[in-house]
Amino acid sequence: MLEIMDIQKSFDGTQVLAGVDVQVNRGDVVAILGPSGSGKTTLLRCMNFLETADAGTMVFDGERFELGRISKKDIARLRKKTAFVFQNYNLFYNKTAIENVTEGLIVARKVSKARAVETGRRALDKVGLSDRYDYYPSQLSGGQQQRVAIARALAAEPEIIYFDEPTSALDPELTGEVLSVMRQLADEGMTMLIVTHEMGFAGTVSNKAVFMEKGKVVEAGDSKTFFERPRETRTKEFLHTIS
Ligand code: ATP
Repeated sequence: MLEIMDIQKSFDGTQVLAGVDVQVNRGDVVAILGPSGSGKTTLLRCMNFLETADAGTMVFDGERFELGRISKKDIARLRKKTAFVFQNYNLFYNKTAIENVTEGLIVARKVSKARAVETGRRALDKVGLSDRYDYYPSQLSGGQQQRVAIARALAAEPEIIYFDEPTSALDPELTGEVLSVMRQLADEGMTMLIVTHEMGFAGTVSNKAVFMEKGKVVEAGDSKTFFERPRETRTKEFLHTIS
């Protein structure tokens, strides 16, 4: 469904992505792992065009794009296939939960308000917030705010959702509720690419793992092998340090 080949990105002459490949099939849950500063967030942001990659190729549903010179039109088209869940939720603080979820549908996708609200309510129900439609972010816990952000992603009916460390801003007691929503989506076959430091979650929910260091993929493969019998010494060290 989605393949990234040799993606490269530098900031001010420092190479952050030094030729990364990622392959995602429909229904995959891919965990992107690695130490701080290894380029995981940058990879996700380049894949969703929040940053422009310097070079690399993307094949999405059989169509090929050169990332260093992709047109705005193609970016807009590709963005419709994807949704992004940020570390800090990125909600509008002057809008209610339902308004946050429907805003993109109404403004960017020109969906009628009535239909957007219907879709938005369904998405909020799915993340367990049917009793919070009209709450503002300030009236919600961090875990609930992140679930609103997940509902917003779902309402866009993307082919894939990118998650950038979705629980790292949360207190440990609120992490579980967000991970359990993500686990449910995985069980339902949602395709997801998740940057995470939650190894227990990654080990049980993902079917593929990609371990990055210094802008390169050190090891990638099916999660069971990756977590139980990693090949590379560096992967073994990493898994040992964080478990
Ligand atoms: P973490 O796990 O700590 O979030 P990460 O693996 O996601 O780390 P990135 O956030 O992708 O790593 O950052 C990789 C490197 O790129 C870091 O050295 C960071 O300082 C640098 N970097 C990221 N974004 C920018 C930017 N907009 N301008 C300059 N440097 C940047």
